[in-house]
Amino acid sequence: GRVLVTGASGFLAVEIVQQLLDAGFTVRGTVRAASKGDYLVQLFNNPNFSYVIVEDSVASEAFTEAVRDCDGIMHTASPFHFNANHPDKLIKPAVEGTLNLLRAAHGSDTVKRVVVTSSIAAILEPTPTPVVFDETHWNEHSIREVHDKAEQATQSDMYRASKSMAEKAAWAFMREQHPLFDLACVNPSIIFGPPKQQITSPANLNTSTAMFYDFINGKTKSLSAPAGNYVDVRDVAMTHILALSIEEAGGERFLCNSDKGGFTWQEVADILHARLPEHDAVKKHVPMGERASASVQQMGFSNAKAKHLLKQTFTPFEDSVVDTFHALCELEKAW
Ligand code: NDP
Repeated sequence: GRVLVTGASGFLAVEIVQQLLDAGFTVRGTVRAASKGDYLVQLFNNPNFSYVIVEDSVASEAFTEAVRDCDGIMHTASPFHFNANHPDKLIKPAVEGTLNLLRAAHGSDTVKRVVVTSSIAAILEPTPTPVVFDETHWNEHSIREVHDKAEQATQSDMYRASKSMAEKAAWAFMREQHPLFDLACVNPSIIFGPPKQQITSPANLNTSTAMFYDFINGKTKSLSAPAGNYVDVRDVAMTHILALSIEEAGGERFLCNSDKGGFTWQEVADILHARLPEHDAVKKHVPMGERASASVQQMGFSNAKAKHLLKQTFTPFEDSVVDTFHALCELEKAW
């Protein structure tokens, strides 16, 4: 089959495209600039990959050409950064981009399933007592925050609202328009793992990889605080492909979180010192921290649905940490 992947130049999308090609799919990627498309053509070096340019996913008819003859779609394109001067800078492309894509799919008679990359940002909310979040939870809090506070809302609420609103808009579209295709959503936690997209300088790092890079460069201050929940990019790509291929995945959202779940940077430091004690960069840059196994209260996210319905498996934390570290060291050599 032929699969359209939007935002093909992104960290997650490059891994998705690679896995789709490996599985024998023909892939068309959308990119915002030809230079990014050309980089991908070289990277994949596979006649089954091609790209089209969609400069602005908010423009009406943005995806009309792109969806032609596709059986499946992965919609990953969405801004992920924490420097917006107004929530609309994130919300507009997230929501309108998703709706434009769904409208284009609705106008085609070939698309059978659309997989939208959502996030735990569309799930997690502050709660009075700790809960284990699952697919039944929705982040209404960030939507209220940006509604009430506009540009005074926190950067994290702006991003989270964009993801929650985009996913809600997608499900509402399905309820109201009854298209021929069905929808599945994937809701990952913070994604680590080796980045393969074009990264010409540290300023180009995607947001989640930049978090890891900040850590190995000593910019992360609090090592023992809960740092969030993480999942490996290779596993998230796999979830997308399973969600595209497995019949029962239609109409479902899948929280995509590693078995490890919540982590601290202290644990990352300990893994790097234990696994790569002689590595120059580890000796020079990776802080030792306190090496205390202080137990911290982590937010909980269930991955049970992905495991049961999709038979999803997850990369061990140690491997994700070491592989991400090696990939960043390789990139640094070229900067
Ligand atoms: P990247 O920043 O690497 O990828 C984002 C992709 O979206 C790029 O292809 C980018 O294009 C495109 N994009 C960004 N802004 C716009 C816009 N205004 N209009 C059209 N396209 C745009 O990040 P990730 O790969 O991490 O993100 C991919 C998806 O995964 C996003 O939907 C994100 O919300 C989601 N996600 C990511 C997590 C993470 O920790 N990384 C966690 C949970 C969800 P260009 O290359 O031209 O900038």
